[in-house]
Amino acid sequence: LFESVELAPRDPILGLNEQYNADTRPNKVNLGVGVYSDDEGRIPLLDCVRQAEEARVAAHAARGYLPIDGIPGYNSGAQKLLLGENSPLVGSGRVLTAQSLGGTGALKIGADFLRRLLPGSKVVISDPSWANHRALFAEAGFTVETYPYYDAATHGFNFEGMLAALRALPEKTIVVLHACCHNPTGVDPSAEQWAQIADTVRDRNLVPFLDIAYQGFGDGLEEDASVVRLFAQRDLTMLISSSFSKSFSLYGERVGALTMVCSSKEESARVLSQLKVVIRTNYSNPPTHGGMVVSSVLNTPELFALWKQELAGMRDRIRSMRTQLVDKLKEHGVSQDFSFVKSQRGMFSYSGLTADQVERLREEHGIYAVGSGRICVAALNSGNIDYVAKAVASVIG
Ligand code: PMP
Repeated sequence: LFESVELAPRDPILGLNEQYNADTRPNKVNLGVGVYSDDEGRIPLLDCVRQAEEARVAAHAARGYLPIDGIPGYNSGAQKLLLGENSPLVGSGRVLTAQSLGGTGALKIGADFLRRLLPGSKVVISDPSWANHRALFAEAGFTVETYPYYDAATHGFNFEGMLAALRALPEKTIVVLHACCHNPTGVDPSAEQWAQIADTVRDRNLVPFLDIAYQGFGDGLEEDASVVRLFAQRDLTMLISSSFSKSFSLYGERVGALTMVCSSKEESARVLSQLKVVIRTNYSNPPTHGGMVVSSVLNTPELFALWKQELAGMRDRIRSMRTQLVDKLKEHGVSQDFSFVKSQRGMFSYSGLTADQVERLREEHGIYAVGSGRICVAALNSGNIDYVAKAVASVIG
């Protein structure tokens, strides 16, 4: 039966992790994987999560099946994060949300749904993008192409290139957009640029699929949702995948949500019924634990306030690491200007390091980064930042 099965290529980032784990050097540093760690280098267990979990364990709740689309309070909480506390759009009944298996699961059920609806459409993603975007939409049956995004020469955003590409797309092309904290570059468009992008998406009759996996890691929970709201203000129908993996530090619990904004309440009921078919035939219904924890944090004012505080703590720590990295590179005699690292947003930075420099960092210093030069700034801490800055200075030469 399985004779003809070929070995699939290893996931490049997870493969890097395996290499890192096998490295016996005591001062090794993993800047490859997209996980936030605290100043002690550990994945934090947020206090709001601990409190919600303790309450849940104490309640000895039964573990029945959840509804196909998940926990109602979780879904309404996810909508409020995206569209605001008293959003008239939510009030109109035009918005639907289904709890999903992380942000990846949200993208996947969205992709499967769209593939049935728009079999003739292609998908475009940013160049570069999170690697799983291409793989996931291709596996769902779509042709996947890219639009210009990152400008290596300026370490910035290629606005003109992106707009021109969007303008040339056929109607109904699905455009995947990183709503904040672009992965892998850390480079986001400005508010004015986003307004023009949204206008173009509307005027060209494109289908926006916003991916928001780092809400709260840029400028704040509300601020980071501004792109979603900007699209909503233009009365666009759209899909939005949310991930709470990073913002709640609940990676393995698979907490995410797919939200769709429809043209009417009646349409939204039809769309939800079809989305439920996609979910039912894939995994039936989502798991309870992580969803219950997130739902109780989102719906309990004290826990919500605590979460906002803890999220701000993570965001501020990353920012401080960006500043320190730039300063320390200077201290170690690097003349190249790295100040762009400070204006990048979220967990990642396209550092501008070449593939050769990344390799030397790994071989000579036990510092693991992605070959593209992407580093996870959220993996830097007061214990390793000097070592990393010195090593980077030595490979830049
Ligand atoms: N979208 C982007 C842009 C991401 O970076 C990630 C996580 N690396 C995801 C989606 C998926 O998130 P999750 O881990 O919740 O599936």
